[in-house]
Amino acid sequence: MTEATARRGATDLADKAAERDTYARLAAPFDTTFTDVRGGVELTYITGEQTVSRLNDVLGVGGWSFRVLQHDINVEADEAWALGELVADIDGSTVVRQQFGSQKIKRSRSTGAPLDVGFDLKGAATDCMKKCASLLGVGLYLSRKEIVQHPRAVGVTLTCEECGAELKETKFKDGTTWTPAQLASHGRRKHGKALCMDDYRRANEAKKASILTA
Ligand SMILES: [Zn+2]
Repeated sequence: MTEATARRGATDLADKAAERDTYARLAAPFDTTFTDVRGGVELTYITGEQTVSRLNDVLGVGGWSFRVLQHDINVEADEAWALGELVADIDGSTVVRQQFGSQKIKRSRSTGAPLDVGFDLKGAATDCMKKCASLLGVGLYLSRKEIVQHPRAVGVTLTCEECGAELKETKFKDGTTWTPAQLASHGRRKHGKALCMDDYRRANEAKKASILTA
């Protein structure tokens, strides 16, 4: 190996390390996240502001740009959608990512007329930007969770981490129903794991008992 190739090798390694570091900083978890329930499924998300701040912090204000390539209102779905493109300078190389985003049209309760189509399009563009940024790792870990919380959509069966039983839809006396995904999400939040209804109740009892004896 000549001195020149050795030096080039060292630079390559340094570049690779810097790239890993940039990726780690882009993909780092957020201190604050938000949750929303859509179609009975709990979603965890970050805001557009958090996404912009992360990109500014890690890449610099001049280190990235976002533009909307196409947008429209889909009447059938009653939503605004946007196709956008994020261009980022990652450690000297230009990275381009495209994604779609959408937002439901907000309508007046009394007349059903759209309240502010500009706002709906802006929401679609923000959603689009967040999805583009997720392709660079920003908040990507949140969509991983999303897959776990959409067992029907991806055909995954949720099982109890205690006994291995398949999680079933549970109806309560008051008429509410928990989907397997909801049961899993309640279990994870309260007891740190997905539990079948029997084990969920047992864990609740055990927790109650430990609080009483404490
Ligand atoms: Zn169980």
